[in-house]
Amino acid sequence: MAWSFYLQISIDNDIPDTIEAMKQSPQLSWNLDDIVTLSDFSDLLDATLLKIKKYSEYSSQLAPTISEQEFRDFIAFDESVAEDMMRLDGRVFLMESVDSKDAEALSLKGKVKQLELVWHEKTQPISQWLKGKSVEGKEVLDEENAQRLFAFAGDLQYQLSYERAMADHTLSQPEELIVANKDSNGVRVVYDLYGMITTDFRFEFCDSNNKTCLIETIDELNRYTYSADPHERHEAFRSRFAEYEKNIEKLYTAYSAIVKDWVYESKVRGYSSPIAMRNAANHVSDSSIEALLSVCTDNAPLFQRFFRWKAAQMNPTSTDGEPQAIQKLRRVDLYAPLGNEKLPTLELEPTITEVLQNFAEFSPTFAEHAQKIISEHHVDFLPNPNKRSGAFCATLSPHITPYVMTNFSGRMQDKFTLAHELGHGAHGLYANKHSISAQGATLPLSETASTFAETIVFEKTLANTTDVTVKKQLLVTKILDSYASIMRQNYFTKFELAAHQASSGDFSIEVLNKLWLDNLSEQFGDSVELETMFQYEWAYIPHLFDRPFYCYAYSFGELLSMALYKRYKDEGGGFVAKIEQILATGGSEAPEDTLKKVGIDMNSADFWQGSFSIVEDWINQLEQL
Ligand SMILES: [Zn+2]
Repeated sequence: MAWSFYLQISIDNDIPDTIEAMKQSPQLSWNLDDIVTLSDFSDLLDATLLKIKKYSEYSSQLAPTISEQEFRDFIAFDESVAEDMMRLDGRVFLMESVDSKDAEALSLKGKVKQLELVWHEKTQPISQWLKGKSVEGKEVLDEENAQRLFAFAGDLQYQLSYERAMADHTLSQPEELIVANKDSNGVRVVYDLYGMITTDFRFEFCDSNNKTCLIETIDELNRYTYSADPHERHEAFRSRFAEYEKNIEKLYTAYSAIVKDWVYESKVRGYSSPIAMRNAANHVSDSSIEALLSVCTDNAPLFQRFFRWKAAQMNPTSTDGEPQAIQKLRRVDLYAPLGNEKLPTLELEPTITEVLQNFAEFSPTFAEHAQKIISEHHVDFLPNPNKRSGAFCATLSPHITPYVMTNFSGRMQDKFTLAHELGHGAHGLYANKHSISAQGATLPLSETASTFAETIVFEKTLANTTDVTVKKQLLVTKILDSYASIMRQNYFTKFELAAHQASSGDFSIEVLNKLWLDNLSEQFGDSVELETMFQYEWAYIPHLFDRPFYCYAYSFGELLSMALYKRYKDEGGGFVAKIEQILATGGSEAPEDTLKKVGIDMNSADFWQGSFSIVEDWINQLEQL
């Protein structure tokens, strides 16, 4: 549905005094009454349940020969239930996001979940019927009549047709039932076990004074990978992989089951390859993903150049001797800080003004959308006890201005996060002429406005920064972020392609370890020194277990948006209308078609290459500082 989350960074516990003072101001928390007031909640719940019961009437009327008007009436009814459900679910979800212990939210949540089950049960046969599947007591919806009726579904035509086309890969209803049951008691359990095994890990950590302690969580341990102390950084990785090595047979057993299950299912469903099953769910063609992966791989040397620059900048002996640049970056030094200088602390109100000004220079409409979200008090800005960490934007319905949650604590990164989430919100407002099911962009386009907005504000901040140290820190952080969301994810996907292929033959821990090390060698070239302990890293990446082939979505979103940013930089104001046209499309079209209309070919290597020139420009600037 139209949820769009962006869970970013964890919050700082020490909140600057300025922020404490701002907390007094009520507009800093959001007003959720625009969704539904708590006094109206029960009435809406009851009314929605009554409406849901009417699905049975509609279901009995639906037949291949119904008129266009009858079909349109059904669509309007279905959309109005979706709107009610979104209001109920949205109100509860947002209440809980800012206070996980909110007793009222928790009690309402139970009721909404109950209603959702009834809704799902009532709509399931109808959605099967629309896909052309046989449903007991109903005549199958043939292709000709389906296309006749879908043509009158307005902006839902694309999604209805897409789901129907995808139904070629679905099995018969009893078979699907078996798969669903076997999945929930099988492969999902394997993934749960993976989570149970890894959350049980305790890490033996030996500090610089040879004192050993036991670290309870991976998050706590991972903080040391950013330590200024080279010993601590190394120890963090050693300690992490020691646990993974100790448990590698269990983790291998889980991974092997997940891979073999995925490979088998993609075959049974008639997909041309294991990755094709994910591509179809993502609304992207196999060829565009092939272009994406191959361009990413071709650009690996770009980040290698950055790692060489970083090696030259680091002086690991600065505390106890003459500063000396290290020859080669160790893998454990990837996230090492370059200095102890702190970035300036930001205050909220000037930051909001700055972000809006940056948006206005790009497009007044974009800025107006973001302003609307703020003026209507749809943002919850500050950290609070029991509030969820990170940040997200919730686009609930075309009739409700989107809601944004952040944990602004005055860090430079918080400004970019605010821009990112307001970008998501603006995207929702650009697309609010659509019906509720077509407002949210399909996955490939869902990060377009957000990453674009973030890049605008980042580039402005960079241009206005004169302090060389601050500039350097800004660039290093940004390039490392891009590395993590583009190149690292690309190589995760390449590993999966190799692992899934290997699963039919000699498939063992040794094979996976070797595939992973080869993958890292290709990614880093000779720019980074790798220790063999990294061979266990594949077992540390949860997405390889819980969402096979999902990782490329991160590179996809980031690169697509940066490629658009590159076009904007080259073509200036003339390209703004094209970007706005993409945003206004929402999820009403195939992403490839939306981009084609503004002259972009997702299958073309040249298009993807454009985004790397932005990263290259950042690296150039860094090298010149
Ligand atoms: Zn996002």
